[in-house]
Amino acid sequence: MRDSDPPIWRLALPVPLPRLFDYRAPADASTPAPGGRVRVPFGSRSLVGFFVETAPAAPEAPELRDIETVLDPATLFDAKLWQALVWAARYWQRPLGEVLATALPVALRQGEALPDTRERVWSLTEAGATALSGLRRDSRPRALAEHLSGGACSEAALALALGAGWRDALRRLEARALVESSLRAPPHEARRPTRAAPELSAAQAEAVTTLNALAGRFSVALLEGVTGSGKTEVYLGAIEDCLARGRQALVLVPEIGLTPQAIRRYGERLPVPVLALHSGLSENERAAAFARMARGEGRVLIGTRSAVFSPLPEAGLFIVDEEHDGSYKQQDGFRYHARDFALVRARGLGIPVVLGSATPSLETLHHARAGRYAWLRLRERAGGAKPPQVRVLDLRGQRLESGLSRPLLEAIDRCLARGEQALVFRNRRGYAPVLLCHDCGWHAGCARCDRPLTLHGRHRLICHHCGQRRSVPPACPDCGGLALVPQGAGTERLEEALAARFPGVALVRVDRETTRGRDALGKHFEALGERPGILVGTQMLAKGHDLPNLTLAAIVSADEGLFSADFRAGERMAQLLVQVAGRAGRAQRPGEVWLQTHHPEHPMLQTLVTRGYPAFAEAELADRAAAGFPPFSHLALLRAEAPRVEALDAFLAAAHALAREALGARRDAAVQAHPPMPAPMPRRAGRLRGQLLVESSHRPALQSLLQTLYPALFDLPEARRVRWSLDVDPADLY
Ligand code: ADP
Ligand code: ZN
Ligand code: ZN
Repeated sequence: MRDSDPPIWRLALPVPLPRLFDYRAPADASTPAPGGRVRVPFGSRSLVGFFVETAPAAPEAPELRDIETVLDPATLFDAKLWQALVWAARYWQRPLGEVLATALPVALRQGEALPDTRERVWSLTEAGATALSGLRRDSRPRALAEHLSGGACSEAALALALGAGWRDALRRLEARALVESSLRAPPHEARRPTRAAPELSAAQAEAVTTLNALAGRFSVALLEGVTGSGKTEVYLGAIEDCLARGRQALVLVPEIGLTPQAIRRYGERLPVPVLALHSGLSENERAAAFARMARGEGRVLIGTRSAVFSPLPEAGLFIVDEEHDGSYKQQDGFRYHARDFALVRARGLGIPVVLGSATPSLETLHHARAGRYAWLRLRERAGGAKPPQVRVLDLRGQRLESGLSRPLLEAIDRCLARGEQALVFRNRRGYAPVLLCHDCGWHAGCARCDRPLTLHGRHRLICHHCGQRRSVPPACPDCGGLALVPQGAGTERLEEALAARFPGVALVRVDRETTRGRDALGKHFEALGERPGILVGTQMLAKGHDLPNLTLAAIVSADEGLFSADFRAGERMAQLLVQVAGRAGRAQRPGEVWLQTHHPEHPMLQTLVTRGYPAFAEAELADRAAAGFPPFSHLALLRAEAPRVEALDAFLAAAHALAREALGARRDAAVQAHPPMPAPMPRRAGRLRGQLLVESSHRPALQSLLQTLYPALFDLPEARRVRWSLDVDPADLY
């Protein structure tokens, strides 16, 4: 190596390869901090990569390519965030470059500069102050100039004060040099909340006091509060305290829970502006929110899963609302869990995390029971609301109208007659889950998935697994019979049946078909208002909404999940039932919950209904312990799919051999690599699917195996003929 050789920079690139890449450093650049973005050539493409470390120049090294540009003067990731992301890449087994790219808003991922978040403010020039009285009375420019004579004003404030036409007026004044503008950082000084807090219940106040005593060091608190117990007030109390200490707070909410109403609720009550980060924003807005948090201008961020990667240089508190929610786990690409990442980040930062839920995950409960988490409980509903009454309705021998029993229909009738609202929950969209030939038993199946097609409307069949569409055949393809009948009821059919049974009653259907786009859900609720009516829909209805006039919640079928093969199905079903039930009777009127089932004696259902979620969770934890499932063991699932079964089998067999070899070398009895198996859904979209489960009661032992196994999988020749992915702590075994 000659002295003049520039050093080598080792980069993480957003490509699916488990390694770093060496490039020749620019001659005159100083070494960036880890995570600094650079642009480099890669094959025939140009990529945005991330500086990781320098490497000694090796004379025998192959020709290295040059870094094109250094994009950041300073890294976008502070040291603590960087460490957490490096940990995440190792833990969830994903190339670091892909992890770093996922952590950034798309605009920044593509190499754009951190946006300027200063705002433009306007003021009168000297000439403007003099000319003010000469402007035509009652004109917009005059009104605007008068407004500015009170002091400089942001564009947002001008728009608010003057309304439509303000910009035009401004242009005219600017053309005559009567106004001038400058940029300033948006103020984040305290402002007065627009809404006062209700008086906290004793339990709420105690929870806030306990949380605030945890400030300044790492700890985890589980806030277990029944639905309607006022968990948000507790979060707000803790956030106020965090802000008063000069710190930033992050609130994670499930995908569906982050409505404009929720954002407004926090905004009205806190003494600072609240920033939001969710899928409804444009890429520019996301990058701006990221920048404002990075600069400390934003003090409170509320966002969905990926908001957990936001910079928080002055972090003081993390809150994960509805911590049990499935949307915190990313199901493709970098399969991280936002709650778990929040915990790891908080430990590095030395700050507390609050995990809130009416139905905590068994993982979280397990830690709380072992004394590792502080455990705060809100056992009663806020403001004197009573818990709903639960009735189990045995469907055996009942005549059903599109899945609805007589007693239930009568209960809905009474509810409407009282001038109140009912919610009918069914976790199946479409008209009917199956279309059946009454003559020969044929049913319409997906040709690519071996699963029934769902009937939508009367004419369309759609596969909910691969999206394939067909029209309903005119006759049974097997026997030519004409009696093709829909079996079972999805939300469409329930809507139709309820409309026929309750003519003239307001009826709103909430599912993926009717509820698309930003705040479609909020608009549905607004349309219904407080008049008597019925909401029918899927799990979109289960979460976080306060409908004061809703007093009846009906679960059309509680049977799904009772007999599922997946170890988490029972937990999920229980959470869903409790959350749906929690929508009823949240205000002054008492609520009732109706649960239709063909298995009223099922022990899981019995425990849940008679003794509540905590008792259910305890029983379920005992079962998991006996069966050796999480949280008593740790899993990693290797999934693969291929058009041909030979390719699939060859890959899984090779992967299994690799795992056993790695375990044999270590004589590690703590880890088990089970033989390959077909996936629970063995064919999807025409591809055959299989999987391999690795399991251990000892997390570090499992991790140590994965550190060897994951990179080795890339080198398998068999890997080239399949699509594969590794899922650490899978949410389900599908
Ligand atoms: P959770 O998230 O625990 O289900 P919320 O935080 O949404 O419950 O609160 C339920 C309802 O109770 C909301 O309408 C809220 O404004 C109200 N509420 C919360 N705390 C109080 C209180 N201390 N006094 C009166 N009403 C309250
Ligand atoms: Zn037939
Ligand atoms: Zn299909």
